[in-house]
Amino acid sequence: MSSTPVRPPAVSPETAAAQALGQLAPPFQEVVAPIHMATTYARDEHGQLNGGRLYARDASPAYDPAEALLCQLENGHAARLFASGMAASSAVLQILKPGDKLVVPRNMYWALRNWVRRFAAQWGIVLAEYKNSSLTSLRDALSGPPPRLLWIETPANPTWEVTDIEAASALGHAHGARVVVDSTVATPVHTRPLDLGADFVVHSATKYLNGHSDVVAGAVVARADSDDWQTICQYRGQAGAILGPFEAWLLLRGMRTLFPRVRTASRSALHIAQRLAEHPAVIEVRYPGLPDDPNHTAAARQMHDGCGGMLSFRVTGGAIGARRVAGALRLFKEATSLGAVESLVEHRAPVEGPGSLCPDDLLRLSIGIEAVDDLIADLEQALAQLPA
Ligand SMILES: *Cc1c(COP(=O)(O)O)cnc(C)c1O
Repeated sequence: MSSTPVRPPAVSPETAAAQALGQLAPPFQEVVAPIHMATTYARDEHGQLNGGRLYARDASPAYDPAEALLCQLENGHAARLFASGMAASSAVLQILKPGDKLVVPRNMYWALRNWVRRFAAQWGIVLAEYKNSSLTSLRDALSGPPPRLLWIETPANPTWEVTDIEAASALGHAHGARVVVDSTVATPVHTRPLDLGADFVVHSATKYLNGHSDVVAGAVVARADSDDWQTICQYRGQAGAILGPFEAWLLLRGMRTLFPRVRTASRSALHIAQRLAEHPAVIEVRYPGLPDDPNHTAAARQMHDGCGGMLSFRVTGGAIGARRVAGALRLFKEATSLGAVESLVEHRAPVEGPGSLCPDDLLRLSIGIEAVDDLIADLEQALAQLPA
């Protein structure tokens, strides 16, 4: 990408995304960033690195355009790409030392919940849990030994509890903690956690940011420079969990359509949630966009322009009923992951396995950008398999 700094005009986030900040790549003034494949950079006759890069593990220019765009969308100080959302999350955990206290929500992305527990046990980190969306429970978890890091995931996978980022960040800071928000599901289209007081935002860029089920990637964005941010940056360069240049390029391409994709998915998700809520074979719908969802008030405060493309619902007939519906869907592909252009369904409890907090009759939907009437017709024919 451009080595000459081009100051982008002040434009709205969707314009910045559509144009990937509007920068042109010299010397041909390409409107699409080239792919930087080099792993190393030459010195001049005085031994100077004129391009400012030493080695691609910690400083590949392949990351610059996607990091710059994400940083602008999150209104951050700096962003770093990682090899996956888990690698990005692990990088944030590196600010912890043995004996530090880490405060986590009871319900969080399943694989990260398991990893945090193993990591804490191995490294002598003290874990305290709070009930998602409950500030009272959070206050209890923060009290006692001072916390070093507060983890927030909102809306939280797969039951979509919304935690008030502004209030939770203020509480975390009052106790001396750094605050990180996993904003994978909200995306910068709906929520900007740094504007609400969080110190870091984590994304599984595998999901909405890339949006096409063809890249595994992660990112951390920081509100300001700090020793902790430097620790996170050093971890990427030194521990080496980096993204490949082609994946970084694909990620930027995906991010250019982030706004229309996420808005379409959110609009359709609300529509589908409303239809499912009226269906006789549906026991419960979890979607913060529904006015009678217990998380709606918190969602309305911090989510703009919709409440995201993820929802879950419980069906009659227990686990067997859920299995039957998942198996009968045709347009919805039964697969894990979320946030892409194609709609997915997952019978979540058996995927999470023993210890899952997820009801066994719950189906998770990731709504894509297909015609919403087609998606509703598919759900209705699958639900017709159940006794009402
Ligand atoms: C998928 C996911 C992750 C993990 O990201 P990977 O890119 O799969 O490593 C973390 N948080 C949430 C909310 C996710 O959905």
